[in-house]
Amino acid sequence: MFKKILIANRGEIAVRILRACRELGIRSVSVFSEVDRKSLHVRLADEAYGIGPAPSRESYLRIDKLMDVARRAGCDAVHPGYGFLAENAALPRACKEAGITFIGPPAEAMEALGSKTEARQLARRVEVPTVPGTNDPTEKSAARALAESMGYPVLLKAVAGGGGKGMRLVSSDGEFESAFRDAASEAMNAFGDERLYLEKYLERPRHIEIQILADARGRVVSLGERECSVQRRHQKVVEEAPSPVVTPELRKKMSEAAVRLARAGGYVNAGTMEFLVDQRLNFYFLEVNARLQVEHPVTEQVTGLDLVKLQIAIAAGHGLPFAWETITPRGHAMEVRLYAEDPENNFFPSPGKILSRQVPSGPGIRLDEGVYEGWTVPNDYDPLLSKLIAWGNSREETVARLRRALDEYTITGIRTNAGLFRRILREPEFLRGEIHTRWIDELLRPGRAAARSASDRGGEADLNAARDAAAIAAAIWQSRQSAGQAADGSGPKETSSRWKREGRRQQLDGMP
Ligand code: ADP
Repeated sequence: MFKKILIANRGEIAVRILRACRELGIRSVSVFSEVDRKSLHVRLADEAYGIGPAPSRESYLRIDKLMDVARRAGCDAVHPGYGFLAENAALPRACKEAGITFIGPPAEAMEALGSKTEARQLARRVEVPTVPGTNDPTEKSAARALAESMGYPVLLKAVAGGGGKGMRLVSSDGEFESAFRDAASEAMNAFGDERLYLEKYLERPRHIEIQILADARGRVVSLGERECSVQRRHQKVVEEAPSPVVTPELRKKMSEAAVRLARAGGYVNAGTMEFLVDQRLNFYFLEVNARLQVEHPVTEQVTGLDLVKLQIAIAAGHGLPFAWETITPRGHAMEVRLYAEDPENNFFPSPGKILSRQVPSGPGIRLDEGVYEGWTVPNDYDPLLSKLIAWGNSREETVARLRRALDEYTITGIRTNAGLFRRILREPEFLRGEIHTRWIDELLRPGRAAARSASDRGGEADLNAARDAAAIAAAIWQSRQSAGQAADGSGPKETSSRWKREGRRQQLDGMP
């Protein structure tokens, strides 16, 4: 087993990994940028090293600096977490050169499955259904002709894509030209690669993904699915396992497809195969995430497995037990992603000092986070604060626990999106499991309330009451602030409905 692991990341995921190291008796080494000197992942690590200024290009994305720390500290393995360099094949290559183990897939598998078009080609070769579209980077005129023949709407996507960057929905031929230009330039800025491909835009699909584990001895197992259809602007905000619509038969079929694909790509370690699922429960391969995912805790809660420890064990050469080939989920788990962002201001990041907070606990509650009272959330990275995860015997019990935990959760000094989850967890459609990837965007669209069915009106009345309470609380806080009292801890307290307007979180460095 390894003696010392370098964690090439920050925030909640760095904390998650170093906790696994501690439990395994492995020393952990954190790295930090200048603004992260006082971060929790630095405080909790056995050793920590500065790697430069706040911009991630000068710190968390610098392979040379990371390798230098690994050598100086005498690390024998590197865990990349998610985001930053997690899917950059240059990191496993640099590790290999330095004689250090990379805790993740081999560079070749990362390349074969990390490129969206190459993964689509591979999927077709092993008879895994893909969303209709092109399987190669596509020139503008060819893409336009195909869009015409497939019929609009279509989606332009960056070959190197991730985090929704370089993705454009095109509803008609008239929009094609400018959408192509915008997507290509966004892709160039984000990934240094402007190549695009085209997919048919599926109407109201579900996003359901399969977690796999593969050891270096050729054994690949599926740990079942996660339902990630609750998304704002194509970014996941609530995840759960199992999916409310996946039957044992569908789980088996999707798992077999995911395992086939992992084998074909020579995959080793933990990975996720993402699928879109239509209303008739046909599934289509979307992409591979060749790393640990943000939402891995829901799988951990229903399987009882520790994915980070397993990643470490696989990297150290251990094999997976045969018994896991038929693993079935136990109970239900759900995660909400709490961000420092301001729902009153288009969900724009709301960094700042955390003045006080009260965190939930009790039966079935898990909180994965990288923050503490008195810490200042920096402006330089993805503003994920905490992942609040609930487990229960049934979906109903899980939702009730999550609601109860959100009621216990208070934070002052910064704004968060907690109110959005309080709302989602009371929506009748959500409670019935009737969700799709555009569901929140449609829910938050102004004017939607009037169109809702009579049976849903009770929930709406609750929401209006909550909205009034929030407005009163906000007014009180504002009047205090103008009287100069904010510094005493009476900052913006979370109330149950600060979700008013829809917006887009700023695309920041290192976003998973
Ligand atoms: P990224 O890697 O940039 O996050 P993905 O390919 O994983 O992009 O897609 C992110 C989300 O965008 C999906 O979960 C889904 O909501 C939406 N999406 C992607 N492709 C399609 C499609 N062909 N039709 C409908 N929605 C899609």
